[in-house]
Amino acid sequence: MRSGKFVLRLSSEMHDKLKKIAFNNEESLNQVCVRFLEEGVQGFSKKGSRGHRHPHCSNPETLQPELAVQTLLSVVDSLPQRVELKRTPRRVLDLYTQLTKGRHIDPIQALAQKRLSSPHQQLITLHGIRFVSLCEHHLMPFYGDVFLAYIPDQYIAGLSHLTKMVESYAERLQLQERLTDEICQGLRQALNPLGVGVVVRATQLCLNIQQGQSLQTQFMTSQFWGEMQNTTSQNTFMHQIQAFGQRVF
Ligand SMILES: [Zn+2]
Repeated sequence: MRSGKFVLRLSSEMHDKLKKIAFNNEESLNQVCVRFLEEGVQGFSKKGSRGHRHPHCSNPETLQPELAVQTLLSVVDSLPQRVELKRTPRRVLDLYTQLTKGRHIDPIQALAQKRLSSPHQQLITLHGIRFVSLCEHHLMPFYGDVFLAYIPDQYIAGLSHLTKMVESYAERLQLQERLTDEICQGLRQALNPLGVGVVVRATQLCLNIQQGQSLQTQFMTSQFWGEMQNTTSQNTFMHQIQAFGQRVF
């Protein structure tokens, strides 16, 4: 390893240790090597955590994921230690935490607790619930609109609670097909309706990038259960979706 005019030969264990200290202190690996040469092993190890500025990093549970992102950076960038990337691991982890926060929620229980008694037994539809989810195959977002229809039996639910249920299922590692099925199952179990219909229209970034497709290419998935399998109810719902328009997210 080169540090200024010196060539420092390190064991892989020591290299990893210095790299970890550099990351914790937001220093370059070269800076840490220079300190190592100046202060010697004894003095250096006593100051191993000098200048630590990220409270998250003191926790081994968050440090390890950050090191994993750093490893990824070393694959996708030729200068992964450059200053512009110092906060990238933390930013990436914060964003992925946000995109998967729904995994801590039980959407069925949350919706069931908010349902309201109602004698209404006619078709109820909800169009264009926007969502962002994370493809579990590539960890890239897919996003779009969810369209819901249900025929209640004894219970109905407010707009905000239905929207939260969709968000909870979306904000986790997902596949569009499973997201569609889970929303349908969630509505069935939480509201005990006579019928449920779910249509999801989404843009899959990973597929569009891999296949060089236009980002406007969208995928549609659907699931119908109970009385929503009835042609008349289903046609009414699908016509409403068409009338909603070809809005692009
Ligand atoms: Zn994917």
